[in-house]
Amino acid sequence: MFRVFSTTIIAIYLSVAPACAQRDFSAVEINVSEVSDGIYMLEGAGGNMGLSVGDDGAFLIDDQFAPLSEKIVAAIKTVTDKPVEFVLNTHHHGDHTGGNEAFGDSGAYIVAHDNVRGRLAANDQTSAGALPVITFSESATFHRNGEAIHVFHPANAHTDGDAIVMFRNANVVHMGDVFFSGRYPYIDIGSGGTIDGYIDALETTAAMIDDETNVIPGHGPLSKKADINASIAVLIDIRSRIQALIDQGLDEDAVVAADPLADLNDEWAWQFITGERMARAAYQSLAE
Ligand SMILES: [Zn+2]
Repeated sequence: MFRVFSTTIIAIYLSVAPACAQRDFSAVEINVSEVSDGIYMLEGAGGNMGLSVGDDGAFLIDDQFAPLSEKIVAAIKTVTDKPVEFVLNTHHHGDHTGGNEAFGDSGAYIVAHDNVRGRLAANDQTSAGALPVITFSESATFHRNGEAIHVFHPANAHTDGDAIVMFRNANVVHMGDVFFSGRYPYIDIGSGGTIDGYIDALETTAAMIDDETNVIPGHGPLSKKADINASIAVLIDIRSRIQALIDQGLDEDAVVAADPLADLNDEWAWQFITGERMARAAYQSLAE
């Protein structure tokens, strides 16, 4: 009797607990796939990681959740004997920065936009060792492994601290959460994200690449420019639909009640970003 009771309580607790500490990562495996010579995409739980390996060392883009750090290290060791020299955080969210402390302790320099350090530092649960030690405001270029790894900051897109990473020689781009391939994006309005900035960032990146470029999204499969263009088109459509309702004087709940994205949801909505959540984000971004 007590056993049933306590199991129920634990199940309820797990279903409402937001922190990843309660999440069970034991079954997660880190998949490593080669995108280009010396450049890999790593998938586990959370945001897709990017990896450059070569004579200089390993350059890792994002590091998912803290409990996965050992598995990520083991996965990296399958493609290089060199240590991780740099970890670039594409933004501050916990499914992209959770491994910072472990990689920092192992000697990697954690690099991110200024606002990523600020947001992580403002969180009581962030240890000092998880903070980026090198920050930038607009862009930075890493000359490693025969590449010019160009990192630039698009303003107010997914958050206010986003970084997009271009491997110019290999023709690969890692977009962090400025790209959710084939699904509605999460636009973190509370952390400075906006739909206008998000569309701008997608358009800026699309203009820098070609049809052959391999695009690693923050979430979703390895993609191409055509997939970015599909996201741009749907977001421009969403923006104009929501703006039209705002112009008619509808408030946020009335916009949601009008179900303005109904015909898009089958293709674009997913577990985390439903049609309602997408509509609310667009409304909050556009309403003055
Ligand atoms: Zn994110």
